[in-house]
Amino acid sequence: MRQFLRTSFGMSLLATLLLAMMAAGEPLAHTYWNVVFKNIHRSAPPSTVLLTIDDQHSLTSGSFADLLERLRRRMPRRVLIDAPLPVGESDAGDAALTRAVRSFGSDIAFISRSDKVDNFGKDAFVLPPRQITGSAEVLVSAWRGNFVLYAVSAPYKVNIEDRDYSTVSTALAGVRSGIEGDYYPDFRIDPATIPRLSSSELIAGQVGASNLTGRTVIVTGLSKAPSILYFGHSYAPAIALDIAGAEGLKAPFSLSLGPRLGSLPILALVVLLIWLGRLAAGWRKAAAYATAVGVVVLVPAALRMQGIVFAPDNALLFLGIYGTLRLWQKRARRIQLTSASGLPNLLALANNPVPVGSDVVVAVVARYEEILATLPHDLHGECARQIARRIAAGSGAETIHHGDGGHFAWAEEARPLDMQLDHLEGLRALFAVPLLIGNHTFDTNIHFGLDRNEGLDTSTRVNSALASANEALANGRAIELFEASRLAEAPWELSLHARIEEGLRNGDIWLAFQPQWNLKDNRMCGAEALIRWNHPTRGPIAPDAFILQAERAGRIDALTYWVLDLAITAALALNARGPRFQMSINLSAQMVDKPDLVGNFAEAVRRRGIDPRLLTIEITETSSVRNRPAACQNLARLRELGFRLSIDDFGTGEASLAYLADLPSDELKIDRRFIDRVATNPRDHAIVANTISLAHALGQTVVAEGIERPDTLAILRSMGCDLAQGYLLGRPETFAKLEKTYAASLSGAVIQV
Ligand code: C2E
Ligand code: MG
Ligand code: MG
Repeated sequence: MRQFLRTSFGMSLLATLLLAMMAAGEPLAHTYWNVVFKNIHRSAPPSTVLLTIDDQHSLTSGSFADLLERLRRRMPRRVLIDAPLPVGESDAGDAALTRAVRSFGSDIAFISRSDKVDNFGKDAFVLPPRQITGSAEVLVSAWRGNFVLYAVSAPYKVNIEDRDYSTVSTALAGVRSGIEGDYYPDFRIDPATIPRLSSSELIAGQVGASNLTGRTVIVTGLSKAPSILYFGHSYAPAIALDIAGAEGLKAPFSLSLGPRLGSLPILALVVLLIWLGRLAAGWRKAAAYATAVGVVVLVPAALRMQGIVFAPDNALLFLGIYGTLRLWQKRARRIQLTSASGLPNLLALANNPVPVGSDVVVAVVARYEEILATLPHDLHGECARQIARRIAAGSGAETIHHGDGGHFAWAEEARPLDMQLDHLEGLRALFAVPLLIGNHTFDTNIHFGLDRNEGLDTSTRVNSALASANEALANGRAIELFEASRLAEAPWELSLHARIEEGLRNGDIWLAFQPQWNLKDNRMCGAEALIRWNHPTRGPIAPDAFILQAERAGRIDALTYWVLDLAITAALALNARGPRFQMSINLSAQMVDKPDLVGNFAEAVRRRGIDPRLLTIEITETSSVRNRPAACQNLARLRELGFRLSIDDFGTGEASLAYLADLPSDELKIDRRFIDRVATNPRDHAIVANTISLAHALGQTVVAEGIERPDTLAILRSMGCDLAQGYLLGRPETFAKLEKTYAASLSGAVIQV
């Protein structure tokens, strides 16, 4: 059930039912009926004629008696008086009027009208004076209105002072009035077409007998008569509504379920059609949807002509809500499925099954980010499209999908493995020709990940090929075939981008700070910023693990600049409280050689107004630095800008000494593997002691990291190590905690060991 309510269909249905309970569809029904009756008209029946009194003011009982007398001679079928009787002026006149009325016998009736919609109280009606009307019938006219007071329906009978009165419409239609419930007027009747004669014409003898004989004549002071809001016509004389009411009563059927329930049949029909449409595909789907719209638009109007009143409002509401939700979802999906280059992205490939007998291939373009960095922004899309065109030409695939960074994916015919490998080698050869984008030329290289596991779902296959392509790139291999053992990690990689963004947004990714202590004065002098990720389902993820993933997925930049920004905020806050506080951040080896690195760091310190000398950049020696000369140049420029450079994990990299020789560094952090055993292992003891001397000889500050035991700390201090970091002295903690520790240190707390 909850699942159902989460679909656009379920949500629309629920919303419609809630809105229906609040009668929120009324404006829709109102507009609908107005439009219908503005466009569909019928003439009023000739059997009912209005006789309008021209000058109601000068009417006296005597002249009214005269009018009735003349009328009677034309032998109408029945006369209804829809005007106040002028009585009390002269006894003779009143007597004449009484006689005139009585002479009609039961062929005369008087109308008492409620002047407002929804007013059925006894005060609403003025009954005609009995002394004149005698036993003549009194008919009433009173209407129920909608939320803007348009007349909608009327009850068959109205009770005034314990007596039931028939309504004008039932009398005109000759319908029994004992029925419970309401009837609905036929608003097609155009009020202007009701036959109309004037009293002056009758008095002047200009009215032929045939115009009145055998008809129902309604005597009305039309210019003074109340008017009422009438669908399709705005205001109309109230008597027109009574005539339309009579026509409604003459329809072949008389069926309505009232304003609330009356909307349910059409709603049910439309809901059913949309439901069928959702299950169907192709033209059947389109036909079901079109029928649903047709039903809402045409059926209520068509049924109404037959006397069946079903309102379209809630069905319209449902269609409106459902349509809007679907459009919105479609748009969201389109955005979700398109990469910035305008090409469909990897999710678009992963979401649909690939044809039977296909391999899934992911190509990754080496140095893609670098290429983009050299190109003006408006050429980035063109760059991706050009690569995609080249791949399409070589692979024969129709659609090439573009992922984050330089990843391109497609499905193509599965050939025997050796043929497929040859084919991809051929494709690779296409990239021997440099890319020409705008007036920039680039040499590039392409690596492939190949998934041939037909049985697996597409999403898994795309992930697998992607992971293999990244591996091929990292190992400098042309093609990597996916091994099933990597299956568990692959989905993680594909969605890493989205997850990192989400983690940064909702605080699952946060920055911890581990204090560093000066062993000369035993005070806290700095901290290292260490990233943390408490994943909601995976739990805490070790930073080196997800940083590696982020590097592979090309997302490390965003993370690094996020760390830099927060570390600067922290450094600014702590430096405002005391003497120099040094903040260290870790720089991924993947980023050291990037062309925009120095510019971005320089811009960050300029924008935040921090002295770069308060920031230490820790770098680790790894083989993954692709462009060594560029890396060395970047680091030298950062140092010129004032940043301090620290060689992290000294002793573990492949060329720590070479690094020390090449790089203009300020600090050296001895890896915790050596520190850990300094008290127990004489060789490690010797290595650390000599490393400290060597570093000091080269003018470096020495940091020992990973100090867990007091004896380790004591030995390091005796060796002349400058700074200490480790669980013994403080674990990585939140900024709030770091601030407290620092405050304590400022007010005199020192290392106790
Ligand atoms: P690292 O830069 O060498 O950081 C020191 C690591 O040693 C941290 O692990 C820290 O929690 C841990 N450590 C500190 N004292 C002790 C101790 O007494 N005993 C033990 N056993 N461990 C201690 P963590 O936070 O898991 O970070 C691991 C690595 O992840 C870091 O090594 C660093 O290379 C990387 N890393 C962390 N944050 C970032 C970041 O923001 N950017 C980049 N690029 N890399 C980061
Ligand atoms: Mg570090
Ligand atoms: Mg380290």
